[in-house]
Amino acid sequence: MFRKLRIAILLTILVVVGGRQLLTESRFSSWKQPLWVTIYPVIAGSAENIQSYTDGLTPESFRQIKTFIGQQAARHGRQLDTPVVIQVARPLTSLPPALPSESFGLSVALWSLKMRWWVWRNGSQPDLAAEDIRMFVLYQNNKPGGLLERSVGIKNGGYGVVNAVASRQLAARNRFVITHELMHILGASDKYDPATGQPVPPDGLANPSKVPLYPQQQAEIMAGRVAISLNRWRQPGNLKDYVIGDATATEIGW
Ligand SMILES: [Zn+2]
Repeated sequence: MFRKLRIAILLTILVVVGGRQLLTESRFSSWKQPLWVTIYPVIAGSAENIQSYTDGLTPESFRQIKTFIGQQAARHGRQLDTPVVIQVARPLTSLPPALPSESFGLSVALWSLKMRWWVWRNGSQPDLAAEDIRMFVLYQNNKPGGLLERSVGIKNGGYGVVNAVASRQLAARNRFVITHELMHILGASDKYDPATGQPVPPDGLANPSKVPLYPQQQAEIMAGRVAISLNRWRQPGNLKDYVIGDATATEIGW
């Protein structure tokens, strides 16, 4: 009896969540109204500096993301007064379910179910406006070697999970990752070789018609890096060094 009830509840949640997604997805692609994004900082570590860092985050901390999307929209002939509105939630202390090690299959399906449940429990605060997209940003201290867990943006879920460093020095890097995952949620695909990190031409290059093609001066947001040659790249400093290329612009409905 109890098991049947649990399944019924779960199915109801799925139908409700699924219906909401259809509505928000059609809204994403129109770009007629501002896209509301809530950043949910998650305190992902016990060190005191993480809490004080997340307490200091305001919409101003993410203003460059808004500016970047506005400028890139204009470059693609889209005059959007306010493409994105960013609000910042109070920091969460509950961690989302750990990402599966694979990127497809049953473990992903299970993770996404657990994640939807977690989002439903944690992804709302009474004083926030209803948002289109939720970005859960897990602030932590930098790991030796600077390697964090990967980040994801779930197109069908309207949310992303970003691993970020609780440090002012790495705030620009965090903003890039948030923007990259935001683009995934809006329908963009990766444009780099997962084995090497090398941007894949032509769509992964900021300026695919440049002569000579290399070195590129900027990076494409879904490639993440500046291609110096066919097999060398460098990591850009901040969002000013990125563009949204033609292929990504088409994918996100511009
Ligand atoms: Zn990606």
